[in-house]
Amino acid sequence: MSRTSWTRASASGARRWIEAAPVSNSCALPSLAQPPTEADLKALPKLEERLRRRVGVCIHEFGLIADGDRILIGLSGGKDSWALLDLLESLRRRAPIRFELHGVTIDPGFPGYDPDRIAEVCEARAIPHQVLPAPIDLMVRRRPEVTPCAMCSRFRRGVLYSHAKANGYNKIALGHHLDDLIETLLLNQFFGGRLSTMPLKLTSDDGANTVIRPLGTCEERDLRQLAWLKGYPIVPCGCPLCGASVLESRRAQVKALVAQLQDSIPDLKFSMLKAMKNVKGSHLLDPRLAHLD
Ligand code: SF4
Repeated sequence: MSRTSWTRASASGARRWIEAAPVSNSCALPSLAQPPTEADLKALPKLEERLRRRVGVCIHEFGLIADGDRILIGLSGGKDSWALLDLLESLRRRAPIRFELHGVTIDPGFPGYDPDRIAEVCEARAIPHQVLPAPIDLMVRRRPEVTPCAMCSRFRRGVLYSHAKANGYNKIALGHHLDDLIETLLLNQFFGGRLSTMPLKLTSDDGANTVIRPLGTCEERDLRQLAWLKGYPIVPCGCPLCGASVLESRRAQVKALVAQLQDSIPDLKFSMLKAMKNVKGSHLLDPRLAHLD
């Protein structure tokens, strides 16, 4: 498995990747549609190094990976999941500790979703991978009274956790990034009445599963750039609700707000990251936290 197998050797190589991965769905980012030029590709080594360093520091700071871990990576075929696999693979080869990486893709049955494409890429890179069928499309159609996205995430989580537990994986790595953490923090405040976000490491109550988010301190724009420069084979999710559900439109609203604020506060995201790591419990209104400072 060579490092260059992800990397576009040339702009014409880039075109071949794009042709192999249709970009007709809203999950596919418009910027990925144009192949990079040779001049664009010069930015890749520095970007990769920056992201690798960021993920490495995050793993170390939050104790995300330990010697002997068997890690299951959720691979949807989106840019973030490919970046997670690529960066963890690269760190694994350099790490002084030993850990295993296995890919898993949940097939929700949405028309047009192609999990076999993900399986092919994993096979070519010698990464163990499995597709788990989960009839989410059917369930969403049968129970229109239930909020589809809530049902979908619950179901995906259940399938993932059961598979990890049954097959001896002690960690599940997900591709959420800093923008996801910030948007979730704001969504929970604006619509949920609570101050919380996605944790970088969370062990289930029964201790059977630990979810880790090694990209949690990486900005989405860097991951988008990485996906574009390296030509990750983006697999559209095929969900008819993608971009159209209430949750998705709220998230889009919050994303636009953050982007607007960032125009006048360039350091906004990293300041928010710092804030999430520096909570003054006694200066909030939750009596359960009053004693924490
Ligand atoms: S938009 Fe579709 S794939 Fe995404 S969470 Fe909602 S139901 Fe699931």
